[in-house]
Amino acid sequence: MTTFKSLGLAEPILRALSGEGYTNPTPIQAGVIPAMLEGKDLVGIAQTGTGKTAAFVLPLLQRIQALNKRPWPKNCRALVLAPTRELAAQIEDGIRTYGQYLKTTSAVVVGGAKPGPQIRAMARGVDILVATPGRLEDHMQAGAIRLDETTTVVLDEADQMLDLGFMPAIRRILAALPKDRQTALLSATMPKQIRALAQEFLRNPVEVAVAPQSKPIDRIEQTLIHVEKANKRQMLVDVMKREKIDRAVVFTRTKHGANKLAQLLVNNGLKADAIHGNKSQNQRVRTLDDFKAGRTPILVATDIAARGIDVEGVSHVVNFDLPNVSEVFVHRIGRTARAGKSGIAISICDETEREFLRDIEKLIGFKLKLDPLSETDLVPEQAPEKPGSRNGRGNGRGRTRRAEGNGSKKPGTRKPRPNRAKKAKRPQQEAAQNADGQNTTAQNTSRTARPANRQTAKPKARKHRKGGNKPSVGADDAGLSRMLGNITRSQKPSQRSARQTAGQR
Ligand code: AMP
Repeated sequence: MTTFKSLGLAEPILRALSGEGYTNPTPIQAGVIPAMLEGKDLVGIAQTGTGKTAAFVLPLLQRIQALNKRPWPKNCRALVLAPTRELAAQIEDGIRTYGQYLKTTSAVVVGGAKPGPQIRAMARGVDILVATPGRLEDHMQAGAIRLDETTTVVLDEADQMLDLGFMPAIRRILAALPKDRQTALLSATMPKQIRALAQEFLRNPVEVAVAPQSKPIDRIEQTLIHVEKANKRQMLVDVMKREKIDRAVVFTRTKHGANKLAQLLVNNGLKADAIHGNKSQNQRVRTLDDFKAGRTPILVATDIAARGIDVEGVSHVVNFDLPNVSEVFVHRIGRTARAGKSGIAISICDETEREFLRDIEKLIGFKLKLDPLSETDLVPEQAPEKPGSRNGRGNGRGRTRRAEGNGSKKPGTRKPRPNRAKKAKRPQQEAAQNADGQNTTAQNTSRTARPANRQTAKPKARKHRKGGNKPSVGADDAGLSRMLGNITRSQKPSQRSARQTAGQR
């Protein structure tokens, strides 16, 4: 079995790893570390939760400590670009942890924080600079940082950077770097634009692909609650009171909605806080710290704010709003069942979201199991509130969908229900395991050589672009397709039993 030692990592790094309790590399680490140590360009298809941060941080540290030289003032030896402030901060945390026995210096440069301390941190030069693209460009323009001595650049979560409209900035940043450099690009999905970026800016990259979510998804007990919109907020309270929560992330689509929900939960005696882009950087850091420490075990988050948050021990993911881009669903539920643990994902779907649900179930390849709290007599499907998200679709078809197993009831509207949390018990988990019992599969191939099962993966991930201007992720994503192939195969027993369970009710 591969160990970190056998990958040739230096003793101070091995010491830090063993302090963290890690002796064996994850598949993405086993693929990425040797390639990056050799100075090769790299495309890594991996999501958070696979150990990808250490996969690129460890070789960065090793190569920098081997140089044994100080960086030039206002310069950095290695640059890591990340889509969000939270992810950038988390990467730097990793650098500090894994580099604790080295003299390597690092700094974070992100929007929403005062530029002064960032400028001071860069003034003497820094070994590894972690940055979000917008703020880095501001500093470049102000002359606070130059990139002409930077020998390695890592683009982390490149697909998210694409979604957030960072591609023009990334192109400008890459153009400012020396031509003779190492470039590593990590992305959970591989849409055409990212592949094009890789082709343009990377030289002969090694490709490492893992199917990260296959096993975690198997370990997630997923249920679905149909509810009328009028009852939805109370339903969330019921769910949160019923569940034995260690740490939960509740997803909403809007920042305003996140605040309101957090307040609702607090008003109902639960410890909750919201995290989203309208909060100051300090507030976000504090909220996240409280969540990590378990002081506030419920975090209400928008997708962007939650992206990349790596908090161990998230026992629950609750989709208060279903995402209008179905791939986001997979990203969301991947917040739980990390590091070999199991997790619970509960999705609450109202009458305006049933088309989103259909897309999600199509993508994951099975129907979600009904939660006992699910309402059974439902109003007809309605168009979503958001303009532009589903215009002309799913609207006015006069179709009525109900919870399965209640076909004889007439649809009708009902008044909000009283608290039913005590009545319903959580159904037993039906953990379906992969036939091969493998967590992830790693392939280390040249860019042209494709992972073996890439072309056979089913169902094929397809574009879901219904959310206004938001670009879809995973259009032709091999990793995701493969992962979904795994889900489809492994979850079929659950699918059957979901129907049976529903039929019994
Ligand atoms: P990441 O994918 O970088 O977000 O990492 C997910 C989690 O896995 C983090 O909590 C890491 O600390 C942890 N981790 C990273 N490498 C290893 C490893 N080799 N063995 C066990 N856990 C790891």
